[in-house]
Amino acid sequence: MKFLICFSALSIVGSCATLSYKEKIQNIKDGISIEQPEKIVHYANTITSTELKQHLYQFASHEFQGRGLGTVGQKRAANYLKDYYISQDISSPLANSVYFQHIPKNVLGIDQDGSENVIAYIEGSEKPDEVIVVSAHLDHKGIDEEGNIFYGADDDGSGTVALLEMAQAFNLAKKDGLGPKRSILFLHLTAEEAGLQGSRYYVNNPVFPLEKTVSNLNIDMIGRVDRSHEDNPNYVYIIGADRLSKELHYISEEVNNTFYNLDLDYKYNDENDNNRYYFRSDHYNFASHNIPVIFYFNGEHEDYHQISDTPDKINYPLLEKRTRLIFATAWQLANQETRLKLDD
Ligand SMILES: [Zn+2]
Repeated sequence: MKFLICFSALSIVGSCATLSYKEKIQNIKDGISIEQPEKIVHYANTITSTELKQHLYQFASHEFQGRGLGTVGQKRAANYLKDYYISQDISSPLANSVYFQHIPKNVLGIDQDGSENVIAYIEGSEKPDEVIVVSAHLDHKGIDEEGNIFYGADDDGSGTVALLEMAQAFNLAKKDGLGPKRSILFLHLTAEEAGLQGSRYYVNNPVFPLEKTVSNLNIDMIGRVDRSHEDNPNYVYIIGADRLSKELHYISEEVNNTFYNLDLDYKYNDENDNNRYYFRSDHYNFASHNIPVIFYFNGEHEDYHQISDTPDKINYPLLEKRTRLIFATAWQLANQETRLKLDD
């Protein structure tokens, strides 16, 4: 009898705990309401495969020589980004027309005269001190000993041009009086290929205080299809979204379900996954400071880190769709009433 009483008491405690977790999740889901859905669609539609392609054929061209850290080609790439933001009338949070966050050569351990992150932003209309960071790395592997260029069209030209188009879309909205309530930082990171050094430098020298940094949406390779999705290219891998904020995970899902219906693949989000992608691109430096992140990724393919990663192999309609999804997610994070919450 005694045994039985204990057993039933235990089972009641057990079911209560389960219910309250379920309730918590339901509360999070119920609390999400998509902000200005027609406006999201309108401005997301200004992100086009044609413009993404035009940018990428430049950014992954021989002119930028594979964007090796600290090289002439990488400097040209940084200047290309800076000139773009100036041409679009999108400012820098650093100082007037200073778009480069210089990283000294001794920090990077290179001979050349250091390198730079390229930073632009759109100031929030209501909560300008809170910021959503959207990032992609601008550097790649440069040129090999035989003079072959690593074009890095997917890695990470695809993420880079996604940022350019998203910035333009947010800026158009702002000109129409519909700018984001929180600020949005467009962060082009250097030295990712040399051990995530650009993002490490940024979090050690942040433009906005890290406690005011709401989230980091990091893009590293979103223009291709990996082998396991050849029959279903309508996908993107989502990594890290639920690790620090369940709300971020459900926002990401709700935005996708509302607008784009991509297959959000969580295979690499498994904490036991051997690839450990969660630790392998720039978002990790934000996550390690307790900032919720999403890493958007298409998986590896036969041209990954090869000289054959060229812009002709990019699936531009898919790049467009994935970019629009990330834009819509950033819009939601920037405009929703309450700031994204960390889990207890
Ligand atoms: Zn990369």
